[in-house]
Amino acid sequence: QPELWSDDFNDFICKCLIKDFELRPNVLDLLQHVFIKQIVGREKILQKQLIELIDLNQQIGVIEKTRHERIHTKRGGHMKTQTDPDEVDDLATLEVLDENIVAEKLQIRYGRDQIYTYVGDILIAVNPFHKMEIYTPQYTKMYIGAKRTANPPHIFAVADVAYQSMVSYNTDQCIVISGESGAGKTESAHLLVQQLTVLGKANNQTLQEKILLVNNLVEAFGNACTVINDNSSRFGKYLEMKFTCGGTVVGAQISEYLLEKSRVIHQAVGERNFHIFYYIYAGLADRKKLAHYKLSDSKTPKYLCNEHIKLGPDIVSNTFYKEQFDAVEQCFKVIGFTLEELGSVYSTLAAILNSGDIEFSPVATEHQTDKSDITNISVLDNVASLLCIRSDELQEALTSHCVVARGETIVRPNTVEKAAEVRDAMGKALYGRLFSWIVNRINSLLRPDKDDKGLNIGILDIFGFENFKKNSFEQLCINIANEQIQFYFNQHIFAWEQDEYLNEEVDARMIEYEDNRPLLDLFLQKPMGMLSLLDEESRFPQATDQTLVEKFEDNLKTKSFWRPKRVDLGFGIHHYAGKVIYNASGFLAKNRDMLPADIVLLLRSSENELTRKLVTHPLTKTGNLAHTKGKGINTMPSFLSVQPGEPGDTPYHPRETTNMRTQTVASYFRYSLMDLLSKMVAGQPHFVRCIKPNNDRQSNKFDREKVLVQLRYTGVLETAKIRRQGYSHRILFANFIKRYYILAFHAHEEPAATQETCAAIMEKAKLENWAMGKTKVFLKYYHVEHLNLMVQQAT
Ligand code: ADP
Ligand code: MG
Repeated sequence: QPELWSDDFNDFICKCLIKDFELRPNVLDLLQHVFIKQIVGREKILQKQLIELIDLNQQIGVIEKTRHERIHTKRGGHMKTQTDPDEVDDLATLEVLDENIVAEKLQIRYGRDQIYTYVGDILIAVNPFHKMEIYTPQYTKMYIGAKRTANPPHIFAVADVAYQSMVSYNTDQCIVISGESGAGKTESAHLLVQQLTVLGKANNQTLQEKILLVNNLVEAFGNACTVINDNSSRFGKYLEMKFTCGGTVVGAQISEYLLEKSRVIHQAVGERNFHIFYYIYAGLADRKKLAHYKLSDSKTPKYLCNEHIKLGPDIVSNTFYKEQFDAVEQCFKVIGFTLEELGSVYSTLAAILNSGDIEFSPVATEHQTDKSDITNISVLDNVASLLCIRSDELQEALTSHCVVARGETIVRPNTVEKAAEVRDAMGKALYGRLFSWIVNRINSLLRPDKDDKGLNIGILDIFGFENFKKNSFEQLCINIANEQIQFYFNQHIFAWEQDEYLNEEVDARMIEYEDNRPLLDLFLQKPMGMLSLLDEESRFPQATDQTLVEKFEDNLKTKSFWRPKRVDLGFGIHHYAGKVIYNASGFLAKNRDMLPADIVLLLRSSENELTRKLVTHPLTKTGNLAHTKGKGINTMPSFLSVQPGEPGDTPYHPRETTNMRTQTVASYFRYSLMDLLSKMVAGQPHFVRCIKPNNDRQSNKFDREKVLVQLRYTGVLETAKIRRQGYSHRILFANFIKRYYILAFHAHEEPAATQETCAAIMEKAKLENWAMGKTKVFLKYYHVEHLNLMVQQAT
């Protein structure tokens, strides 16, 4: 029994005020009545009465937006029922705005479970770390076509703005979600898709269902349990929802970036492999199909082994995993995969798991001591049978390799370490390619029927900036991607804004901001940028990670790059979001990401169609974009829809020909980054900044320092400044007049698309503080809301 007015009591009251409903006056009355009588210790009854009242409200279909009357308790013991004069939904409207005020406001709002806040047209979402009842169908309805100020800030409002802009202005839209791991990006992306499918009035129920399932399916393969997030996305995703010009949703397309393939063969302490491996294990066990897929119900495959996992109870009989397996299978089926394809997917996954258990031992012969042999042939046979290839050929491809010298092919044995490397490279490559194949298959199944030029809304959910104790090639790629996205953000918010004001001769004070372009040049410039240097070094067989960092040091002459003393293979980069020390160990191997030609050629001889498809192209996945220099086997994989990029740099030596070229991870990455950016800049952007309030995944805990750092990373503060001073809407005269002429002219009139016409409309609407450019009207968001409302009333 909490003591009256104690913190616990306050907490209890907050919980009682079931967060999804604004309280109606009668509930307030009840509360006051109860408090006046000081009925302590009757929480249960109070709660019950509250719930009954709220149910009643629901039944009569009234969700009153008496948000400002919302009760909140204050320390010291007074209950307030009136509006908090400081409460604002858009922090950009505050008179004074510094980082402490932003953090404080967010904290107060978070304490009231108001997890969403606007800063201008950017939405900040603080992870509540508990289930919120604000995504119900009532909320969906409440946010459709509503004025922004009519409702509390919400992710659904972002979906609505994007959708309405797309339809009204006939332009593509792009929603960029950013934030660190566990901040809530993926959840936000789901909620956006959910709202957009409703807005897009998918007249075809199945299509709506399919689109909603896409995320679940892709995440089963691309997400994993990490120490930070139980459902952490280990890849970046750009989901485009396709609409007709009228706004009906007709399909979806996904692009994936930087899947963390290394997780297939190794997981850090406390982390797990990709979800699907556990799902399939439990699911197949449930259906008594483990033996069919050569999996054991008593021995954990090595790729799934870490200190926490015991196969028995942990995986095989895990009911959650079983349910997930059924759900994933259902997703596959609804989206349109055939049963045959499903069987092949399971076989590939089982082959990967089995392959991890292939063991090697050294064989000493008369002449050589570094030869290796496979010690468990039965496992080898399992892998070969699952991949429909010959076991003896697999053995040869693992334990030896071919080199071409002066036109002659020589077979050389692999050491035990080398053989294990080849085995792991095969596991990673198969998984990476399987993932790409699934994504491409989804794309072909969800591609809009007609090839007409409709509209689309893209949603970008990609890892945020990373800075760990040890940062490797993966962190470098992720941080470069973030640097690029930040550049886009800056461009949009600052540079474009200013440019537009200047071009339109609208008066706007110049705002200073940190331009991270020099950093992008440091990474991406050719031929002396970091990625180019990395590719160049990857081309030399004798190069080492040491020679690589030396090359960086010799060529990158900027203060954003330095070599820390006493850190072997270390180099530092001063990113827009802070300083990061990277360790170049493994950079070259990771960049080359080679799958030996012997393995590729063997898999291409498979009797299984999917296995063959996965390696139609003889290169690693990163070679998708390679150009063919010679004749022969270097063709684009049939399932990949990407267009060829620049020619690759790294020589590649398969058995048949020596003049094949491939692309490295770095050059493929550069290409996909450019591809992503070109899609993004084509549309009107919207930004959602996800904030993680604490590192313990706790609800109701707000770590102010942690939040401040994130606010700085994401440029929210500068945004607030410029947005407050700026105009969030700028509309071409013709469009403006088309939409609003009815406010000042007769329906049959056709006023000229001039400044005067626009000014006449604005004056008629009695609006102030707008600006007139040379070709556009500059408006604040509340102008637009007001105009829309007037049009609604007038028609
Ligand atoms: P990210 O993609 O940024 O790494 P996620 O979207 O996976 O983060 O979120 C991490 C976890 O935080 C989720 O699994 C969920 O438990 C919680 N979470 C995030 N957003 C919400 C939300 N809007 N409501 C409730 N819980 C949330
Ligand atoms: Mg995620």
